Amino acid sequence: MNIENNNAKHIYWSKNIRNIEPYVPGEQPKDRKFIKLNTNENPYPPSPRVLEALKNFRHEDLRLYPDPNGEELREAVAEYYKVSKAQVFVGNGSDEVLAFSFMAFFNPMDKPVVFPDITYSFYEVYCKFLRINFNTVDLEEDFSIQVERFPHDNGGIVISNPNAPTSLHLDKDRIIALLERNRDSVVIIDEAYIDFGGESSIDLINKYPNLLVVQTLSKSRSLAGLRIGLAVGDKNLIEGLNAVKDSLNSYTLDSLALTGAMEAIRDQEYFEDTRSKIIKTRDMTADTLINLGFKVLPSKANFIFASHPVIPAGVLFQRLREEGILVRYFNKTRIDNFLRISIGTDEEMKELAGKIEKIMAGS
Ligand code: PMP
Repeated sequence: MNIENNNAKHIYWSKNIRNIEPYVPGEQPKDRKFIKLNTNENPYPPSPRVLEALKNFRHEDLRLYPDPNGEELREAVAEYYKVSKAQVFVGNGSDEVLAFSFMAFFNPMDKPVVFPDITYSFYEVYCKFLRINFNTVDLEEDFSIQVERFPHDNGGIVISNPNAPTSLHLDKDRIIALLERNRDSVVIIDEAYIDFGGESSIDLINKYPNLLVVQTLSKSRSLAGLRIGLAVGDKNLIEGLNAVKDSLNSYTLDSLALTGAMEAIRDQEYFEDTRSKIIKTRDMTADTLINLGFKVLPSKANFIFASHPVIPAGVLFQRLREEGILVRYFNKTRIDNFLRISIGTDEEMKELAGKIEKIMAGS
């Protein structure tokens, strides 16, 4: 659906932006205290090393521009993933890295870029905004991705792994199968949720020069507020991203973000500790909901995707909101009876289960 914003209010808008239906981020309420399980944030604070580095940051240095190329951060990422610095790009959240990637590797009004019909809705927004044709490939009945369904003749492929909002992971051999049959266009694997039990495709970048893996520090490193995303791929792809960046804004990451991100990458122990806590809580929550009659898809993310045979998801979403718990509901064909529930602390998830039981008892 296109919104025709042709009324007087929008006369100075470009035709392109008048016809865009922008992405709608999850609610960040200010008026009331909710248990927030709606935007896949991490329930734990960032590493103490991040907080310490931010505290020690010399505020007078804010008068200086940050390093436009994030050299030190890219060095830290390269070391962590055992790749070269020339194979790493950093940006202002993975949303920006993805947007730059669409600009760098996909052509407007040319062959369609292809992604699953149910996936991160920003991909469609970027395509419309950048006038890139796109096609979608239907997920299977069980919401899995069948890579053989992606057409040979495409302008690029984008897959979120694990997929959002389904939480399902695509095994490495399937990614390899996709890359083997698709050599002529760029394949973007969006690994925003990979650290919660999935297997990264980063080690494939030396074999496949058309593979770009995008990640974020927003989820598994608890830094959604600092806005750091990254991409790993062949150095020619990274150069393409730099060309886009330096055509728009050379300083996408501020000095504080660069400082904090570096420590988050370096603190391996805290990262392991918090992600394993989230995985444990996730599996426990899935069991609890299954016992309450829910269907829960097998998640490899920091959220679960669940549906109840009796209470419609839209109703449960509203009732949970009234009870002070925010989850995410998508009013979209095939998934409009599911809720996406981010994994919080054990206490928060117990509270969620209790409220669901209460709602079910009253319905
Ligand atoms: N990719 C996917 C699949 C996501 O769900 C999100 C979070 N909304 C992002 C990318 C962007 O995350 P960020 O910009 O915080 O790095």
